[in-house]
Amino acid sequence: MRPQICARCDTMTDKPVVVGHVHSASMGGRTIYSCPEHVPTFPQPIDPIAQIDALRRVRREGTAS
Ligand SMILES: [Zn+2]
Repeated sequence: MRPQICARCDTMTDKPVVVGHVHSASMGGRTIYSCPEHVPTFPQPIDPIAQIDALRRVRREGTAS
């Protein structure tokens, strides 16, 4: 994974952790990264179970035909 800037401390980290996404009409969405130390400081950490659920929902709707 490419180094990313931690959204909390503004420091480049070579072990970025995805902590969220910002959706924007003009940019098409942006991923928020954190360094490993600051992951717990983000209020809504990504829940893998919820993500799988969302994926399943999309697939079910996508294969309805
Ligand atoms: Zn940080």
